[in-house]
Amino acid sequence: MAEVTQRFGPFGGRYVPETVIAALDELADAYQRLRDDPGFRGELEGLLGAYVGRPTPLYRARRLGEAYGIGRLYLKREDLCHTGAHKINNALGQVLLARRMGKRRIIAETGAGQHGVATATAASLFGMECCVYMGRLDMRRQRLNVIRMKMLGAEVRPVDAGTGTLKHATSEAIRDWVTNVEGTHYVIGSAVGPAPYPEIVADLQRVIGDETREQILAEEGRLPGTVVACVGGGSNAIGMFRAFLDDAEVAIVGVEAAGDGIGTGRHGASLSVGRPGVLHGSYSYLLQDDDGQVAEAHSISAGLDYPGVGPQHSHLRDTGRVRYEAVTDAEALEAFSLTCGTEGIIPALESSHALAVLAREGRVMDAAGPVVVCLSGRGDKDVDQASAALGIDV
Ligand SMILES: *Cc1c(COP(=O)(O)O)cnc(C)c1O
Repeated sequence: MAEVTQRFGPFGGRYVPETVIAALDELADAYQRLRDDPGFRGELEGLLGAYVGRPTPLYRARRLGEAYGIGRLYLKREDLCHTGAHKINNALGQVLLARRMGKRRIIAETGAGQHGVATATAASLFGMECCVYMGRLDMRRQRLNVIRMKMLGAEVRPVDAGTGTLKHATSEAIRDWVTNVEGTHYVIGSAVGPAPYPEIVADLQRVIGDETREQILAEEGRLPGTVVACVGGGSNAIGMFRAFLDDAEVAIVGVEAAGDGIGTGRHGASLSVGRPGVLHGSYSYLLQDDDGQVAEAHSISAGLDYPGVGPQHSHLRDTGRVRYEAVTDAEALEAFSLTCGTEGIIPALESSHALAVLAREGRVMDAAGPVVVCLSGRGDKDVDQASAALGIDV
């Protein structure tokens, strides 16, 4: 059995207190044992089909393609997954894994609440106790998701420390895990954190790229010329990219948040302008100030508002296999409106970043063949923010 990957080039690893190492070892051992186990795979695949709604369509967006000067533009419709985004692929897989490990309790941290909702959903499905840590300020900003989590039977624990946002909620979740590790599994929501999490999450999201590959071959009889995805922590992107990394003819583009603009310092572009360092147990590119303190990230989309990035993306950046770009809030909003107006699809603001790069490069990409964009989620959650930013009267 192949060992679960710990490092991607120099990136990744485990920069955690000694007390967490045993728990990470237990998780890595369990995953190594179960990842190819027919019983585990069968149960997961069954649920991805009947419960999540997979495979999600690969949809040819003709009018949006025309607007961007792209003849063959395809959207991978993760927005049609149960709960509205790709996050359920990971949450469900990890909760299944936890059950097989004999854990009875699930914990998670959440910023915007999307990962909390996905985790609460999976825990409810299996009748497991679920506790989600969330900053007090984030709870106020994301009231609807707090209500959803509570309706799904989860306890939402407010974190007052620090700025009342994700960073301190994560610290609290880790503290809980260390104290209760015997019966508790900690579900991390992106391809970040100490090993083995980045590998497990990427593996669970790989279904996005595997389906896309099969679908584009059936539709076009060839691989895409270009594949594009947005990068927050990097889970939807790595899930899409992994299926194409060995195909040198496929150009791969990851899109980060440039927020108000790279020059303003208010952005989330860790790969574009960050430096390598340690955050949340892993060595990777991250936003730091001159003293090496982790800097605050800014983006109109909560899912891209993270100062770090998954370690495999750092490696793919340095090897040059993937090109990373950053688009501003304004560019993302423009792509959001255009997609609403041409396709009858309201995309998540995160996914709108991936689309926005087409306004810059669509014509050039078109020359290389079909373009596939991962539409990581739907934008229902973003309508208040987007309508305010776009000046839509109600
Ligand atoms: C959370 C989220 C993201 C960002 O997370 P990744 O781990 O980078 O994929 C992107 N899109 C949507 C819709 C999200 O909810």
